[in-house]
Amino acid sequence: MVTTDVLVVGGGPAGVLSAITVAKKGHSVILIDAKPYEEIGNKTCGDAINLGPLKMLDKELGIKFPHGEEVADIVDALVFQTEKVTFPLFGDGFVLNRHPYGQRLLKIAVDNGVEVRANSKAISAIVDETGIKGAVVKEKGAKEPIEIYAQITIDCSGRNYQIRKTIPSEFFPDLEKKMEKRDVAASYREIIRLKEDHPYKKKILLIYDSIIPEPGYFWIFSKGTKRLNIGIGWYLDMTVEKGMKELFREVLHKYYPPDTYEIEDKGGYTIPTRYPLMNAVADGFIAAGDSAFHVNPFSAEGHGPALSAGYYAGKVASEALKAGDIRTHQLWGYNVAVMKDFGLSHTKLQLFTEALRKVKTPGLEYLFKRKILTQDQFMTLHGGKGLGKKEIIKIIFKGFPRYDLLLNLYKIVKGVQKFNRLFERYPDTPQGFSEWQTEFMAVMSGIRDW
Ligand SMILES: Cc1cc2nc3c(=O)[nH]c(=O)nc-3n(C[C@H](O)[C@H](O)[C@H](O)COP(=O)(O)OP(=O)(O)OC[C@H]3O[C@@H](n4cnc5c(N)ncnc54)[C@H](O)[C@@H]3O)c2cc1C
Repeated sequence: MVTTDVLVVGGGPAGVLSAITVAKKGHSVILIDAKPYEEIGNKTCGDAINLGPLKMLDKELGIKFPHGEEVADIVDALVFQTEKVTFPLFGDGFVLNRHPYGQRLLKIAVDNGVEVRANSKAISAIVDETGIKGAVVKEKGAKEPIEIYAQITIDCSGRNYQIRKTIPSEFFPDLEKKMEKRDVAASYREIIRLKEDHPYKKKILLIYDSIIPEPGYFWIFSKGTKRLNIGIGWYLDMTVEKGMKELFREVLHKYYPPDTYEIEDKGGYTIPTRYPLMNAVADGFIAAGDSAFHVNPFSAEGHGPALSAGYYAGKVASEALKAGDIRTHQLWGYNVAVMKDFGLSHTKLQLFTEALRKVKTPGLEYLFKRKILTQDQFMTLHGGKGLGKKEIIKIIFKGFPRYDLLLNLYKIVKGVQKFNRLFERYPDTPQGFSEWQTEFMAVMSGIRDW
C-alpha cells in the first residue's frame, strides 16, 4: 500500500501547480499522469495564455514567466472578428510552446520533492461515506492496479475528470458529477509554417465565420514569424453536416490556399467549456482545472485558470493538512478563492455564449455594424459590469425593429446584474450552499432555456 499526504491526478497545468504549492509547504506529494514523463505538459492547444495567472505564480511561488523556447510570440491584443466586423478586445499574454513550459513546471515540482509517477493511470477514486481516500492506479505494463492512499486527492485529470466522476452519487450530493454534451467543445488545430510572413504578429484572433455553428469559432494565433496556430471548435451537442477537419480546411483556405503552408503539427481534443463547478470540494477532495470546468466559456482559454486553480488547491490543501482537518468545511476556502478570481467572471461570460447560440453571427454583426452596441458597451458587459438606464434607452431606439436582438441584449444586462448580486452572497462555508446553489441554478436555467 502506498500512502502520501496529497495525491495529484494529472500533470497538466492544474496538477503541477497543485503539486508544487503543496510540496513547497513541506508535505509529501505523489503526482501521477497517464503519459510518459517526457510527454507530460505536452497538449494539443491554441497555446494562448494571458498575463494574470503568470504574474500570480511569479509573486506567490517565484515561478518565472515563460521565456526562451517556451515563448512562440508575445500577445498584445485579442481580436474579435466576423466577416464584416473587426475589433480588438484586450491583450497582454503569450502564445506558448506548451511542451517546454509544461516540462519546466514539472521539473520545479520534482525539485521541490514531488514524486512523479508517469505512465500511471487513475482508474477510480477510493471512497467511502467519510471521504475520498486516494485512487486506484494502473501503471503501464503492471499486471494489477495498486491503491494510493492520500489524505487529500486533487483531481486534475482534465477532460477525463476521472476521480470526480467515480465518486458514488450517494456520497457528497453537493458535488456535481456530469459533463453534458452542450458543455463540451470538440476542437481541432494545426500549427502551420507559411512561405511568407503573416499580418497577425502579436495577435490572437477569434473569428466567427457563419459556416461554423456559433458559439464555436475559428482561431488564428500567431506563433511568431511565418508560423500560426490555427484551429476550429464547436460544442458536442451541435449537428454539423461536414466533418471538423473538412470544415477547418475550408475556412483555412479562405486565408491561406493549399500551396502556401506546410503542416508542422496537428491534433484535436475536447474542452469542457462552461461556467465553473460552484462547488469543487468534498471531504479529502478538490477538483481543479478542466476537471472542474475552469475554462473560460467565451474564449475557451483554460490554461491560465488551471494554473491559478492549481495554486489555490495546493494552498488550501496545505492549510487543511496543517490544521489536521481535511473535511469539506476546511477545504471550502478553495471554492471562495476560485469564485473571487474567475468564477463570477466566467459565469457572466456564459451569458454571451448563450446569447451567441441564439442571435448567431449575423445578429452580432447587425448589433455592431449599426453601432446599436458600441465596442465600449460590449467591453463593459464582457467585463461583467451593467449598463446605465440612458444607455439602455439609446440601445432600444437604435435597435428598432430588431426586438429579437434587443431581448437577448436585455437578458445579458439583467443576467450580469443578477449574478453580481448572487455572488455577493456566495457562502463562506458549506452551510447554506445547497440553498444558494438552488437559487443559482434557477437563474442559470432561465438563461440557458432562452
Ligand atoms: C484544441 C485545444 C485548444 C485550446 N486552446 C487553448 C488556448 O489557446 N488557451 C488556453 O488557455 N486554453 C486552451 N485550451 C484549453 C487548455 O488546454 C486546458 O484548459 C488546460 O490544459 C487545462 O489544464 P488541466 O491541467 O486542467 O488539464 P490538462 O492540461 O488536460 O491535463 C490533464 C492531465 O491529466 C492526465 N490524465 C488524464 N486522465 C488521467 C488519468 N485517468 N490518470 C492519470 N492522468 C490522467 C493527462 O495525461 C494530462 O496530462 C485548449 C484546449 C484544446 C483541446
